[in-house]
Amino acid sequence: MRKYVIMGVQGSGKGTQSQLLCEEFDLVHISVGDIFRWHVRNHTKLGAQVRRIMAAGELVDDDLVESVVRRRLDDHDWNYGFVIDGFPRNGRQAEFFMESYDIDAVIHLELPDDEVRRRVLSRRLCPNCGMDYNLIADRPEQEGRCDICGHELVTRADDTPEALEARLRDYHEKTRPVLELFRRKEVVHDVDGRPPLGDVQQAIRTTLGLPAYKG
Ligand SMILES: [Zn+2]
Repeated sequence: MRKYVIMGVQGSGKGTQSQLLCEEFDLVHISVGDIFRWHVRNHTKLGAQVRRIMAAGELVDDDLVESVVRRRLDDHDWNYGFVIDGFPRNGRQAEFFMESYDIDAVIHLELPDDEVRRRVLSRRLCPNCGMDYNLIADRPEQEGRCDICGHELVTRADDTPEALEARLRDYHEKTRPVLELFRRKEVVHDVDGRPPLGDVQQAIRTTLGLPAYKG
């Protein structure tokens, strides 16, 4: 049984890194963001609640996140373990989580704010077919046009420099107490999030003592 928490700012690649780990070691990827998105898309009661909160311009509060995670973990479909992403959100939750689930390791993907800005602000989206682009890593063939449907690409509404600064501040504020608590328990593994994704995956496996990544 392997029980991991992954932490990293938006754009750090933690979704991709979690998936690579989960595929190989049969772990369940528990992403709080994905769970909420699923509920919104499927029009559940929780989805309606989340929609109302976001329509009012507010953030989903920590208690709601906690109840969703608890319910998800209670499904007990994780025979070989899990990688949890987006939780815990404060020191109290981290304490509870450590004690109840006996976490093996916290993978902390580190990415300097400047690199986050570079990555996030280069994202583009096709409003017509939904295809994602990135002007650094995944450029469209013709500048500013969708490869699939030819529509003009746009920036996501929440990818403005101002919105990103607010998210970065919020991330650091929320993450600091959680990381400090995990550090006191000596479970944190810091991994540099800047190299190519295969190298990052290898670094994660090395520090966790897992078999090598074969790409
Ligand atoms: Zn398109």
